[in-house]
Amino acid sequence: MSETKTGRRTIKIALAGNPNSGKTSIFNCLTGANQKVANFPGVTVEKKVGVRKYGEYDITFVDLPGTYSLTAYSLDEKVAREFILNENPDVIVNVIDSGNLERSLYLTTQLIEMGVHIVIDLNMWDEARESGIDIDTDKLSELLGAPVVKTIASRSQGIDNLLDTAIGLTVGNSSCHRHPPVSYGPKLDDIVNEISCEISTCKNCSGCGNPRWLAVRLLEGDSEIKARCIPPDDPKNPLNAVLDKSVNHLKSTNKDDIELIITEGRYGYVAGITREVIKRPPLDRMKMSGQVDNILTHRWFGYPIFILMMYLIFEATFTLGAYPMEWIEGGVSWLQGVLVTTLPAGMFRNLMTDGIIGGVGFLIVFLPNIVILFLGISLLEDSGYMARAAFLMDKLMHYLGLHGKSFVPMLMGFGCAIPAIMATRTLESDRDRIMTIMLIPLMSCSARLPVYILFAGAFFGAGAGIVIFSMYLLGIVAAVIIARIMQKTILKSDDAPFVMELPPYRWPTFSSVLIHMWERTRIYLKKMGGIILVASIILWALGYFPRKENYSVDYDSRIAALSQQENTGSSDEITQLENMRAAEDLEYSLIGRIGSAIAPLVKPLGFNWQMGVSLVPGFIAKEIVISSLGVLYNLGEDEGSDTLVKSLTAPSSGITPLTALAYMVFVLLYTPCLSTVVITRKEAGWKWMWLSIVSQTVLAYVSALAVYRIGQLLGFG
Ligand code: GDP
Ligand code: MG
Repeated sequence: MSETKTGRRTIKIALAGNPNSGKTSIFNCLTGANQKVANFPGVTVEKKVGVRKYGEYDITFVDLPGTYSLTAYSLDEKVAREFILNENPDVIVNVIDSGNLERSLYLTTQLIEMGVHIVIDLNMWDEARESGIDIDTDKLSELLGAPVVKTIASRSQGIDNLLDTAIGLTVGNSSCHRHPPVSYGPKLDDIVNEISCEISTCKNCSGCGNPRWLAVRLLEGDSEIKARCIPPDDPKNPLNAVLDKSVNHLKSTNKDDIELIITEGRYGYVAGITREVIKRPPLDRMKMSGQVDNILTHRWFGYPIFILMMYLIFEATFTLGAYPMEWIEGGVSWLQGVLVTTLPAGMFRNLMTDGIIGGVGFLIVFLPNIVILFLGISLLEDSGYMARAAFLMDKLMHYLGLHGKSFVPMLMGFGCAIPAIMATRTLESDRDRIMTIMLIPLMSCSARLPVYILFAGAFFGAGAGIVIFSMYLLGIVAAVIIARIMQKTILKSDDAPFVMELPPYRWPTFSSVLIHMWERTRIYLKKMGGIILVASIILWALGYFPRKENYSVDYDSRIAALSQQENTGSSDEITQLENMRAAEDLEYSLIGRIGSAIAPLVKPLGFNWQMGVSLVPGFIAKEIVISSLGVLYNLGEDEGSDTLVKSLTAPSSGITPLTALAYMVFVLLYTPCLSTVVITRKEAGWKWMWLSIVSQTVLAYVSALAVYRIGQLLGFG
């Protein structure tokens, strides 16, 4: 805690706890809307920070990644531990799922050992009560030497009490912040004591942390801590001798390795505490959950149920989304019409109607679909079904040389690859992480959805839902094949065991679903107002310049002549002439020339040059594919005369259902978007980044070619 000039005091509070204990919910209650998301230094682990003025205090809250321990095996654990060690938060709020006290206390004992000030927050008190559990909080507080409060984050209950207790700790008016040492049983305790005594007198170790904690870490063979306490150039360090002696002693008297002995000791301690404080054990409430699980994770029924659920989500995305989509589309066309009639003809009007509305306007139409898709994914996640799906998929994932745990990031990839890739940091083995990162871009993300909706809707009518669904399936099949190849070649299996837990089923709360949806909507809108707008304008300019002076036909005079006549056919003829002129302009422009260079490359796939060109800026963000088509087709016609669907399905475009299918396949599989590429480099390195760009583009080309050629052989298109 520090004092500022104005007499206000600043406090830093960090939230630590197991995944799904309700940390983020508590964080939201504590900070409200005053939060921002950044990254922890040097890694892409998300760091949520919020501030709040409370009485005379300026409080900063940090939501640490969810972890079960602080042994620093996974990236999340490392990040949480570094933060606690290096940033010295004044208080740590240890958020606990009250229904899972025993499991949660494992982390708690580590925090206590580190000697930090902690408040134990028994969250989800409502659920614990419902399932019949009762915890003696006074006793728990006494045993752990830390204040204990109860909260129900989903109903914002107990939050003020939590905050007051945390502040109380920093000003020292709470009696309980003297933790009794964690006990590992008499034999181990003696050894830990001996080492920690040595550490207390060691000058290297001062400031490294609590001596007991350091002693345990050294015994467990933590190389990072060892490097700090015993510099390699100091072999005569007395600590080294004590440590060696203890390690040898333990090794000679036990057949298990030391880490395991310590882990068991800690579990024993935790089990002891749990037995003392739980007044009433849970009723048989897992029974219901268990019965549901018997069906949902059934060896055979589980899979069709899963596929059906996914299908329902995508069908809803398409059919429910169609209504608001129509309204927005109507609005956009109306705006375009207004601009055409009110603005004077010329470059500015053309920029507005063709460049901006053509690019951004037609994309905003897909917002409802994306919101519905994310709603579906967040419902799966919050209800606890996602964890079941991972469980179910474990066997299938083993076939790919992965664990079920990799399944959740992959499923999240259907929303967006970026959070999905970040979610791989919960995986313990580097090999699994890299493999999962490489496969995630094949999960069809929401940015590709507009392309499917547009093309499937335009060319497949009632079959659109099925076509879209099969795109998703195709991505999965491609991932399976690539995983098998990688497993046999560059990423051979290394089997590390892990526990997959099944959280209880929960009704997702309205507010968490709402926040989730709003976050996605905001990101989508921001993207459109930013990068997509810029790309559309650039594309428009490339299509507008240079202006053509001499046309093959003298359009102006012919149009003028036609407008003199009063007969009915003349207005059609005028439109036709105007379109012909626009097409000639486009051909002459820079983009027309780029297009004719690209055209031969995509011709074997059956794409016209507009489709070919649209794929290039699509590398920045896949949504731009649609914007590009919008701009290109608008430019090629009289200003804003037709919707994109009409232009695409017009016979002159040369697009058949077969080419549309090949195009969708290409968009599904080709190089991941720029942001995904950047994050792949950060998380996995240059080599994997390049591999994913090149291999996916090759895969896309070959697959689209195969679809097109086979389709032709079968007599379609
Ligand atoms: P985190 O992983 O620790 O950040 O957990 P979250 O804050 O994301 O919460 C996980 C789920 O538990 C969400 O669906 C919350 O709405 C729900 N949840 C959080 N706190 C409570 C609580 O006190 N009671 C109940 N019933 N649900 C809660
Ligand atoms: Mg969270």
